[in-house]
Amino acid sequence: MGIYFSGGEFASGISSLRIADGVIIEINGEPDAGDEIVDLAGAFLAPAFMDGHAHPLFAGRESQGPQVNGLQSVAEMVAEVKRFADENPGVPWIIGGAYEAAVIERGDFLASWLDEAVTDRPVILQAVDHHTVWVNSRALTVAGINSDTPDPEGGTIARNEDGSPRGTLREPAAIELIMRCAPTRTLDDDIAAIAWAGERYLESGVTATCDAWIEPGMAEAYIAAADRGALHIDTHLFFLAQPQTWRERVAYFAKLRSEITALPRESRLRARTVKFICDGALSNGTAALLEPYVDDPTTSGLLMWSDAELTEAALLFDQQGYQLHIHAIGDAAVRQALDVIEKVQGANPMWDRRPVIVHAQLISNQDLPRFAALGVIANFQPLWMYLDPMNKELIAPRIGDERNNRQYQLSTLVKSGARISYGSDWPITSYLPLAALAVPTHRQSPEALPADGWSPHERISIAESLQFYTEGVAYQNFEESRVGALEVGLAADLVILSADPRTVSPHAVSALKVLATYKDGQRYIPTPLL
Ligand SMILES: [Zn+2]
Repeated sequence: MGIYFSGGEFASGISSLRIADGVIIEINGEPDAGDEIVDLAGAFLAPAFMDGHAHPLFAGRESQGPQVNGLQSVAEMVAEVKRFADENPGVPWIIGGAYEAAVIERGDFLASWLDEAVTDRPVILQAVDHHTVWVNSRALTVAGINSDTPDPEGGTIARNEDGSPRGTLREPAAIELIMRCAPTRTLDDDIAAIAWAGERYLESGVTATCDAWIEPGMAEAYIAAADRGALHIDTHLFFLAQPQTWRERVAYFAKLRSEITALPRESRLRARTVKFICDGALSNGTAALLEPYVDDPTTSGLLMWSDAELTEAALLFDQQGYQLHIHAIGDAAVRQALDVIEKVQGANPMWDRRPVIVHAQLISNQDLPRFAALGVIANFQPLWMYLDPMNKELIAPRIGDERNNRQYQLSTLVKSGARISYGSDWPITSYLPLAALAVPTHRQSPEALPADGWSPHERISIAESLQFYTEGVAYQNFEESRVGALEVGLAADLVILSADPRTVSPHAVSALKVLATYKDGQRYIPTPLL
């Protein structure tokens, strides 16, 4: 007994689909006696979306604190912290995120602002860059941070003229001064966070994701979630390799990987990827550029790794059979990533490596053909591909219009033969595929600006974007023979949308509804948390 879908639009030359036991078993056939018949009534059936770059555990953790994500003024953030504090009098430390640091020039947020909301308990808010925190005075006091506290190596405490702390701390070494005093998160908290994120994904048509920032303690939470049946969708863990710590983590990653590989297949957890971060972001001048920033010509940004050390780490992880997933935003970082991938391919034995460069916002012309030539997958965030205030007001003045308008050369890369996959980078930006799906097609703001789209020659079709959100990520995950398309034998991971996004106006796509999501043939029905 299966389920028979007909009467709608399908992603590819199909008029009906049968699924049974979690798998697509027939295309364009007839229903069997006993099949449940689903009349799509003109709705659109496609492979479910897959998120190829995201941080769902961070998103779930943020959901457990004040909801400051997306707020555009300090007053709104403080009001939200106050609301949360008043509604949760028993929570001893108020920890949340992620606030938009760019709403304040230079980004120093003051403890006194948060003191207006809460003085009896420490408050710690993480910024969207995950490298900065804003705290109240109580948090500074509890952590013993005052004008005598030196900046820790590799971190800074923002200070007033007299040396007293302002309330903003930067980089993990400084953040740790406060976090080490906070109550440790429990495993149950993290399992609930993972389950919550999975439910948000399922209700929006997504059946696979990844966690692109696995630090100690996080993989353990995913394993526990899988054990307890709280992992609702396929999840691929990317172990974070950093210049200071990667050598001591090699054995630890290997242990976690074999633990995860030993889980039963239906656990939905996979781990075969190592994540590297080559640079920062264009918006705050930390992306690594080949030519200097125009607002400060003394700097071209910063590469996080030396070429030698990145090569050494990449060679070793590649030898151990890990896929490389490399964050590179500026053209110098993209070149460093491509160079390292080329060195790895030249030095290590050949295998099906599928290296990924994520973000790839600015690529030198001479490097564009190297994606296809080296078999590098470009993982893009489709929601970012328009002239939003970040690109227009923060990035353009820093790098000049010529480079700003060369961001996200999607059509050029597609024509060059490069493979593309999509990711949301949730919770940095929204996880909703329908909010992002049409942006690479119109490259316009929600108000349809600019009229022709931003760098309109880089626009692509919705059909291509659907493919990059499904097959593209399935390939990135080495899972194209199991998921990501409507083919007999593949998993019945499906989404039903209220209309065909390829035929409605691009600006109407974000208003389409997800009518149902099927994961392994099971229709998703929201359930209460653990
Ligand atoms: Zn990310």
